[in-house]
Amino acid sequence: MPQAQIIDGKVYAERVRLSVAAQVAQLRADHGLQPGLAVIVVGDDPASQVYVKSKGEQSQAVGMYSVTHRLAGDTELAALLELIEALNTDPRVHGILLQLPLPGHLDTRTALAAIHPDKDVDGLHVVNAGRLASGEPALTPCTPLGCMIMLRETLGDLTGKTAVVVGRSVLVGRPVAQLLLQADCTVTIAHSRTRDLAAVCRQADILVAAVGRPQMIRGDWIKPGATVIDVGINRVPFDNPEKAAAGRTKLVGDVAFKEAREVAGAITPVPGGVGLMTVACLLQNTLTAARRQHGLEPFEG
Ligand code: NDP
Repeated sequence: MPQAQIIDGKVYAERVRLSVAAQVAQLRADHGLQPGLAVIVVGDDPASQVYVKSKGEQSQAVGMYSVTHRLAGDTELAALLELIEALNTDPRVHGILLQLPLPGHLDTRTALAAIHPDKDVDGLHVVNAGRLASGEPALTPCTPLGCMIMLRETLGDLTGKTAVVVGRSVLVGRPVAQLLLQADCTVTIAHSRTRDLAAVCRQADILVAAVGRPQMIRGDWIKPGATVIDVGINRVPFDNPEKAAAGRTKLVGDVAFKEAREVAGAITPVPGGVGLMTVACLLQNTLTAARRQHGLEPFEG
């Protein structure tokens, strides 16, 4: 039985990075403009530190100005807001990324709302969510943008396709659904209260899973030939009892990959799929933000 095509995040992320690097070089040559990304991280959460390091390194690698602000875990909201305000007015900085989650004493909404919408390269400000929902030019959250690039590269024109998005978070599910709608798909958003989720998923030409439940979506939930985008990143113990007993873990998606691969036409793996696109799309958003702030047409990837 033929197996689904693997949608390789490594390949597409590299393509985005190369394209952004070329655009950055062009922008510097033509306009003397160097896009700049500021990353703020509060506290010493190990996963956040890894992400922040990668964002700093990758933005430098494509020729951007890059600065990382590492704040102590007990930083007060007022100090964080003061830093955001300084970056809002810093002409070297075109994109501001506040690494989440914040420590519990800091209100995430207040902090995100303080970022100037035009510098909100994570696309999480309500103004950008509103712009996206009303079809205006917006800075779009990075992971959903990565999903759309992979879908367009795999399927080309998405017009008329039936798309099911499982998950309705502000970070992933909702913006993915908005982007699919903009691409003229017929979109259903499913969530924890959806009845007969398997039957809903079986309708999908495009199935996007953004749930956070390991391998919840089974092979027989998938329409034969569908394109499956698995956003989920879940850490689980190894199947091998010895490795599991030693406390070793691995990453899996929200889709039961082996089963799904027998049915789908194309599928993203976890790891090695959507996750790799997220930082690449952050770079693309920073470039877009820099261009817009200087009155230039947005970057076309
Ligand atoms: P959230 O927890 O914010 O949202 C999860 C969504 O899934 C909710 O809308 C919830 O429904 C829905 N859901 C939960 N259980 C079920 C169920 N049994 N049936 C149907 N729907 C269900 O998660 P995120 O959107 O932030 O992240 C989703 C996954 O994507 C996670 O694994 C996360 O790690 C991963 N992720 C990956 C990224 C990447 O770079 N690849 C980036 C961001 C996230 P309800 O609203 O009803 O509660």
